Amino acid sequence: MQKKAFVLSLGASFYHNPGRFFCLGLALAAWVSGCAPLPVPGENASAKAPQATIESVRDFEPDGYIEPIPSLAPKGYLLSKLAPDVYFFSTGIYNNMFIATPEGVILTDPIADKGALLKKAIAEVTPLPVKFILYSHSHLDHIGDAHLFAENAQIIGHIETKKLLERYGDSRRPVPNISFGSVYYLDFGGIRVELLYPGEGHGKGNIMIYVPARKVLMYVDAATPKSVPFKNFGTVDIYGQVQGIRSALKLDFDAYVAGHLHRPGTRKEMEEVLEYYLDSKKADHEAMKRVRFAEVMSATKSRDIERIIGEYYEAVAEECYGILKKSWKQRLMGFEAFARGHCDVWTAFHRTQQAP
Ligand SMILES: [Zn+2]
Repeated sequence: MQKKAFVLSLGASFYHNPGRFFCLGLALAAWVSGCAPLPVPGENASAKAPQATIESVRDFEPDGYIEPIPSLAPKGYLLSKLAPDVYFFSTGIYNNMFIATPEGVILTDPIADKGALLKKAIAEVTPLPVKFILYSHSHLDHIGDAHLFAENAQIIGHIETKKLLERYGDSRRPVPNISFGSVYYLDFGGIRVELLYPGEGHGKGNIMIYVPARKVLMYVDAATPKSVPFKNFGTVDIYGQVQGIRSALKLDFDAYVAGHLHRPGTRKEMEEVLEYYLDSKKADHEAMKRVRFAEVMSATKSRDIERIIGEYYEAVAEECYGILKKSWKQRLMGFEAFARGHCDVWTAFHRTQQAP
């Protein structure tokens, strides 16, 4: 098992200086969340030596596969034509697509805090207004600027998305005017868009948005190209998610929009991510055979049974990570960050849902 080194060098103990300890916590929280640490009122932070440092949180493993985000300058976004009338918009991390028809725009996922940029991107292509908004799912980060486009548009979403948004009552995410169960066809401006529900995976109501005449698919938060899935698969139903990707691959498409990354993906790239899902499941099954609970029991210093079960999960995840590393670290981004978490999800699945 890989050794984890937690080395804290504290200049002042919590007991002697609780206020400063709290400041350290704030600085760490800001760092973890990606924000710059806030100055402490009444203190000139730059004039004082730090009271505490973390020398190492975990032995640093070098990165594996990386695909750098291209510069967004000068516009702040990337815009490209996916197919006739169909445009791909990205802020580097998040993405969506819109369809410019002769009667108006069909917009998908108005990304949170990116509405102003999205309006500029649409205006590059057409002076016509947004007439339809298609929600891929209910999550705030993907549709949080819907309110900026909703005034003269019809919003379409899955019935489960509608129920969730009614529950949240968030004015940034207006409730869909039109909702559906398994399939909905939108015929507008000479183009057909198929909205298909493959069942619960990433969450309730997460649909596929398919433009068959252009061989373009949008399926969000399921399979980001050249990336392992998000933390703990970012899903409420891992088995449903695998089935969802299989359903997507039955459709005839050349390019797909994943909701994340600076570019669209190819069919082969969706297949590759599905292969990772299945390979991580297999690796975890193998790890569960190799790691014995009795051995964890005999090696532990703990007498807390919950903690010992946690240690068993960690040992299985570490073994599973080691199996996956050989074939996946240099193939997909995010491996170092998320592979152990994927193993954890599969261990829970194997123990509670369905034997492999
Ligand atoms: Zn989501």
